[in-house]
Amino acid sequence: MNPTVLRIEALTVRYGAVTACAELSLSIRQGEFAVLLGANGAGKTTTLRAVSGLVRPASGRIELDGGDITRATPARRTARGVGHVPEGRRILPEHTVEENLLLGAFARRRDRSGVRASLREMYDLFPRLGERRTQRAGTLSGGEAQALAVARALMSRPRLLMLDEPSLGLDPRRVAEMFEYLARLHREQGLTVLLVEQQARVALAYADRGWVLDRGTVALAGTAAELAADPRVRHAYLGAP
Ligand code: ATP
Repeated sequence: MNPTVLRIEALTVRYGAVTACAELSLSIRQGEFAVLLGANGAGKTTTLRAVSGLVRPASGRIELDGGDITRATPARRTARGVGHVPEGRRILPEHTVEENLLLGAFARRRDRSGVRASLREMYDLFPRLGERRTQRAGTLSGGEAQALAVARALMSRPRLLMLDEPSLGLDPRRVAEMFEYLARLHREQGLTVLLVEQQARVALAYADRGWVLDRGTVALAGTAAELAADPRVRHAYLGAP
């Protein structure tokens, strides 16, 4: 069995009186494509933010490759291999496409030739970004901006790529393209992926396994096929009666 890349143990995160994650535990092995499902407010975004260090947990433990990162700074986590594509993409619209990509490689800035090679790799993967590399990121279409957000996270050479609702604002054709692309990275490069996605049907079609969160805790866990066949998932997330 592949080693565990991410382990979350009894994670509790509070925003004032609201408990967003309540003793949540899950772990992901190297090379897995995992998905977090759940209603609005179930704690999915907060889980990703806790892993990348953007919120401080009240209690619990987060490990990356067996090392404790619970109290590490966000920059340190990026350097250790946590890649995060946040909800809403957060690219810098006034900067060029290439500047946005270089920011993603900030932790590797001393490795100039490696960073150049990664840029070429991103332009091969996303030719539209190559064509637009000197253009301001604010001029990109929704699909291109999403590609840029993913490419920027990949520039840090993550061990774990976390994506928060990457389908948001994309038309169905672009959603399919984006999932195909992630599936390729996962298949060909063995990338470990943790995805938060409202579009459960497409997410379960690509993922190996997943969890359904409810009020900050794991309500259901299983392989993607098990979840897709579960009457509760079918009813709540796949539109079955
Ligand atoms: P969504 O799909 O709506 O993003 P989610 O499953 O990602 O939902 P979270 O965004 O993690 O859920 O939110 C979990 C809970 O924490 C919700 O009750 C939410 O209102 C609350 N919450 C999230 N962020 C904050 C914040 N910055 N301040 C206060 N409460 C917050």
